[in-house]
Amino acid sequence: MNTSADNSLLLGGGKGRGLSAVLFPGSFNPFTRGHADIVRRALLMFDEVVVGVGCNESKAGAVSPEERAEKIRKLYAGNPRVRVGCYSGLTADFAKANGVVAIVRGVRSFADYEYEMQMADVNRQLFGIETIILPASPEFAALSSSVVRELLHFGHDVSDLLP
Ligand code: ADP
Repeated sequence: MNTSADNSLLLGGGKGRGLSAVLFPGSFNPFTRGHADIVRRALLMFDEVVVGVGCNESKAGAVSPEERAEKIRKLYAGNPRVRVGCYSGLTADFAKANGVVAIVRGVRSFADYEYEMQMADVNRQLFGIETIILPASPEFAALSSSVVRELLHFGHDVSDLLP
């Protein structure tokens, strides 16, 4: 009788693969519980998640990408399956440099979806990198870094929104 493991179409029943890593790129300004939820769910599917903090645009007075990356690094210090890095230039180049099998992104809305579809198309057609789009968990669907920045600006406590 076939067990579900026997039914696997992967060689060796899906066992014995190399480690698979996925890149989660973003500005993470700041890294919210919504972002942490995407990392958590990506870890259910991949062996490693590389969190890539893009540092193409840097505004004076804002928290620098390196500082943002450092905070995320501290957050995952106890988890060897999460790596954190800063990058400038194309996300696809950073993805290739890290040997990831795909890019993962989250979507909260149709607006997010349209943007992500466009980016995914470019990354697949020009660079041969697939994008996995995860729908935001309902509890985080209204949470964005810009909302957190706005609340911080007006002195609100945002600890419930951050991991
Ligand atoms: P970017 O500037 O590249 O959009 P962000 O830091 O704003 O970077 O977001 C990084 C990724 O995380 C994007 O795919 C974004 O859609 C997703 N994301 C942001 N907030 C949430 C959330 N609350 N739930 C799920 N995904 C989210």
